[in-house]
Amino acid sequence: MSVGARDAAPAFLDGSPAAADAHARALATAARVVRDGFEGADGPLPPVTPAVLDRLLDLDVAPAEGEGLEATLALVGDRIVRNSIAVAHPLCAAHLHCPPLLSSLAAEAVISATNQSLDSWDQAPAATHLESRMIGWLGELYGLGDRADGVFTSGGTQSNLMGLLLARDHAAARAGCDISRDGVGGAARRLRIVASSTAHFSVRKSARILGLGDRAVVEVAPEQDGRLDPIRVEAVMRDLAAESLIPMALVATAGTTDLGAIDPLEPLGAIARRHGAWLHVDAAVGGALALSDRERGRLAGIAAADSLTVDFHKLWFQPISCGAFLVRDGASLQPALIHADYLNPELDDEDEGLPNLVDKSLQTTRRFDALKLFVALRAHGRRLLGEAVEATIDLAAEAARLIDAEPELELARPASLNSVLFRSVPRSPAGAAELDAINEQVRLALLHGGGAVIGRTRLDGRVHLKLTLMNPATGHGDLRELLARITAAGAGVARAGLRAA
Ligand SMILES: *Cc1c(COP(=O)(O)O)cnc(C)c1O
Repeated sequence: MSVGARDAAPAFLDGSPAAADAHARALATAARVVRDGFEGADGPLPPVTPAVLDRLLDLDVAPAEGEGLEATLALVGDRIVRNSIAVAHPLCAAHLHCPPLLSSLAAEAVISATNQSLDSWDQAPAATHLESRMIGWLGELYGLGDRADGVFTSGGTQSNLMGLLLARDHAAARAGCDISRDGVGGAARRLRIVASSTAHFSVRKSARILGLGDRAVVEVAPEQDGRLDPIRVEAVMRDLAAESLIPMALVATAGTTDLGAIDPLEPLGAIARRHGAWLHVDAAVGGALALSDRERGRLAGIAAADSLTVDFHKLWFQPISCGAFLVRDGASLQPALIHADYLNPELDDEDEGLPNLVDKSLQTTRRFDALKLFVALRAHGRRLLGEAVEATIDLAAEAARLIDAEPELELARPASLNSVLFRSVPRSPAGAAELDAINEQVRLALLHGGGAVIGRTRLDGRVHLKLTLMNPATGHGDLRELLARITAAGAGVARAGLRAA
């Protein structure tokens, strides 16, 4: 292969049969390398340490002369794929990190090969219209009404930032400030974001990026079940008003990262309206419940959201990255946009009837991620995806039952969505600090031993283990095996600790 030389094999998809053949061969090689890289693995990851990987990947990353695609991909398979987390392995249960659907992987190949860029119509004609159609469907799915609009994003972090950006500018405008022109200052210093203390950390990150700082985030402690209590939120809103502070946004979470708790959206919507706050619903995780007839009711009240975050690279089984940001009133997207003359001459293109999506996004060049979601939904149907979501919820419920029945494990809370929080409590008596240390070590022992990938977090100030069940094909035998490994690791760590003491 040579870049540019006329008689050599083509390096780009130039429309020639030779290029089409080379493309098909390259994709087939990539598929083979993935297969070979994962072949023979008997766990979700091989037992490797950072030091080993440092050595293994100390490669010449930019040799003067290339060694060819076959050899390079073979190296990728051997060093990289082989040392990757097998996200579809049933013992891989740490994060909201899904196995991607094969249909979507095929769509990814189309997305990359066509390389459309969603900033302007003249870089993505059909893609612009399909994305808009998908956004329209999502607006209907969440009942946002006929003024709804939105855009695909890189994920929940970007969507949350957009929601809080619009909320900030909306509140500032009502207080007579034009932040786009003058920057943050004056009345903007009185803006507050009310959110659960278990809201995603991107809320706090957004407050910093938006020039509001940590102090703008007013955290409300959730109830035992992880959900916000509307009475507490109302009290916080009144306290803010009494101090002449402006609650610019109320963030409700539909599916918290650890407990999978769904805040009571209906009463929170009413509180937001009463206090003039923007209701941003972070449904990065729980948004997928809308696919399921059985689960959809738990999102009651979501239609009142001024803005909404949904992540498709979590419970919609899409390859990273794929998310959306939706608003109830498309006009609310306007204040944040900046026109670039070469992309979006303020009048000309619109006059010519060319819809340029760059207006709706924080990004400029942007992937056609909407395509993979479309392909998955169209190929499998909504019902099948909904059943897959239900299966992950059922798995978490089953895991919770098994944990509850195992004397050396302690269930923290009933499962709400697809995660379960618990602790390893080995038979030998251990103090609180020692139990924390044991649980930390259990996770690391399983990770470094290649036995399982599980999560750890803090709940009620104590270290807990977490399972996030993302693969609907996980069997009950797999769950039992996973819990047996965790129990054994707990016993092993406790024994080693006692010996050391
Ligand atoms: C994962 C998650 C996010 C962040 O989404 P990314 O796609 O990882 O940026 C935001 N909110 C919640 C509740 C999440 O679980």
